[in-house]
Amino acid sequence: MVSVQEALQIIEACCHSLTPEKRPVEKSLHAVLAKEVLSLINMPPFRQSAMDGYAIHFSGSVTTYTLIGEVAAGSGEDFVLKPGEAVRIFTGAAVPDTADTVVQQEIVTRTANEITLTAEIKPGQNIRPLGEQIKKGEVALPAFSVLNAAATGYLATLGIETVDVFAQPKIGLLLTGNELVKPGTMLKHGEIYESNAVMLTTALQNYCFQQPISVKVGDALNETQEALKHLIAQQDVVLISGGISVGDYDFVKAALENLGVKEGFYKVKQKPGKPLFFGTLGSKLIFALPGNPASALTCFYMYVLPALNKLRGKPFAGLKKVIRKLNGSYQKKSGLAHFLKSDSDDVLVKILDGQSSAMLNTFALANGLIYVPAETEHLEAEISVDVYLF
Ligand code: AMP
Ligand code: MG
Repeated sequence: MVSVQEALQIIEACCHSLTPEKRPVEKSLHAVLAKEVLSLINMPPFRQSAMDGYAIHFSGSVTTYTLIGEVAAGSGEDFVLKPGEAVRIFTGAAVPDTADTVVQQEIVTRTANEITLTAEIKPGQNIRPLGEQIKKGEVALPAFSVLNAAATGYLATLGIETVDVFAQPKIGLLLTGNELVKPGTMLKHGEIYESNAVMLTTALQNYCFQQPISVKVGDALNETQEALKHLIAQQDVVLISGGISVGDYDFVKAALENLGVKEGFYKVKQKPGKPLFFGTLGSKLIFALPGNPASALTCFYMYVLPALNKLRGKPFAGLKKVIRKLNGSYQKKSGLAHFLKSDSDDVLVKILDGQSSAMLNTFALANGLIYVPAETEHLEAEISVDVYLF
């Protein structure tokens, strides 16, 4: 049996970012850049008008300019302006090389072919210089940037269509248990509804991972082993729900041993989730989560999530840790770390009822897990505690 910290160290030592792949920018939301992206162009690619108005060849104290033409956005036409001349121009249009200032239309009076300035102007105003945002060949985004919506837009403004990003882990989910039936069927005596599949699938969705491939097996060694063999061969990470405890119908451990899975650890000094198993087969990661729903989800948050993040190129880290003041006291025996379903605001955290590993009723209302170290026996009210928010 290992401590929480030892378990995390063992997992981290086995995690490597997946091989990078090329992906279209529009399919790369939340992906992590494996290589820096260099700009292919100057942006803006030409001196650009920032206003609707008139581009002038600034001529000191002169206030009346002669209009010699018009440049709309997208127009390729160029004009040569002499001092005292102007062209009509619109936002986003290319400013002629011989114009140096754009005067917004609000401070101009106009006749058919002349404009008169009605306010002070600053030479050079309202022109976005060539390459103001980024110059050709400069780093647009460094390696390991996480692509958000703005990043995909930014890359598109630079004309970039594909990026090198770390591959997303492919995930398999094995559900074990003779007692489990699909919601929508009538329960017979002794049966319960299978709920870990939807819970773990939505948890993955919540952190922007791909849908797992789910397979359900009964409590039998052969069936479990066959299903695991295929999942491990085809996926990067396999999550197993249930069958990892010490009951006569728990066959996951034996199946993993038969398949040659190398044990990283089995059992963690924690509650819930003590029977957690982690192992590897080559580069494949295998997590056997206890079947009790609250244990399965706690182990997902604390152990699986950091590993999956590392695989997709992020640091080995999962939920965000914050410090909150405990709204009440807490007593426990030394020996196991506790992860307590809790509800935090910006200052205080409250321990919720229903801490059993079999129950989700208050987990469903919680927004985080309080971490109580293994050796701690008593937490006084108002003491600062670590809370992992989800
Ligand atoms: P196990 O880890 O297989 O011993 O299961 C522990 C408890 O979790 C038992 O009460 C199971 O019925 C329950 N359980 C196991 N798998 C699931 C599941 N996929 N959905 C809901 N409950 C489950
Ligand atoms: Mg079971």
